[in-house]
Amino acid sequence: MAKTIGVTLSERISAGLVVDHKLSGPVRYFPDNHEDEDALVELHTDALAEAICKQVVQAADGAKDLTAVGVALPGLVKNGVVEESPNLPQLKGARIEELLAAQLRIQGIDAPVTAVNDADGMAAGLASAHGKLDSMIRVWTLGVGIGYGRYPFAPGVWEGGHTVVTLDEKERFCGCGGRGHMEGIMGHRAMRLRFLDMEPEEVFEAAKAGDARCLEFKRLWHKALAAATATTIHMAGPGKIFLSGFNVRFLELPLLKDYLQQMVKMSPLQSYSLEIVEDSAEVRVIGAAVSAEQAAAR
Ligand SMILES: [Zn+2]
Repeated sequence: MAKTIGVTLSERISAGLVVDHKLSGPVRYFPDNHEDEDALVELHTDALAEAICKQVVQAADGAKDLTAVGVALPGLVKNGVVEESPNLPQLKGARIEELLAAQLRIQGIDAPVTAVNDADGMAAGLASAHGKLDSMIRVWTLGVGIGYGRYPFAPGVWEGGHTVVTLDEKERFCGCGGRGHMEGIMGHRAMRLRFLDMEPEEVFEAAKAGDARCLEFKRLWHKALAAATATTIHMAGPGKIFLSGFNVRFLELPLLKDYLQQMVKMSPLQSYSLEIVEDSAEVRVIGAAVSAEQAAAR
């Protein structure tokens, strides 16, 4: 019976005890009220690590025989070091695995800590929830930025949200500063920069009502997703591709499928399937735990 702790870091810390790929007990949150959204950004690295450890200890609920602790965070993680983390900038450069493992040992928990990119954690959680731990799955998370997750873990960078989907020189809204990126079209932040006078919700509403500028953007938004998806299919092959994140509400699957059909023409590559799934804290916590368990077994 593998006991692991899964932790995710976003606006809040979520943590839960996972036994044999299932949550045992509730997911715990810090801070536990939704209003305090900047609470984590304001903590320096050591204080943030301390807050994470506190959640792990609580989630463990006295269990000392943990196989592993998995932490999914927004950013680029390599060999246990956070190389880039635009949403939690204080973590950049942190040896997060060592830092957390050392603090946990003081608390009496001696388990290896694995840090993964949050979209990869999400992919592992979806693979587990959909009984696909033995196949390759991918997920796009459509949120403030665009996350690209894949399961199983494979060494690499996988910054799929920054896939170049247009050569238009005016396309420069991506948070990373790069030109022509998918996130620069689809990311929530990028949409707000493009339509300074309208919220993304209003843009998609206006498109429905027939506003030409908004309708054109809605098509571009879907084409960007189709283009980046076509690229991953051409690079990694067909298979299951999940779509999640709070902005899947803008997604029209028939429109996406139509564009994708125009972009992927090689018949062995056409056996892909797309599925919209709810973005839940439970799936993400399980995914972080599953990622850590598999890393510990390697
Ligand atoms: Zn970018």
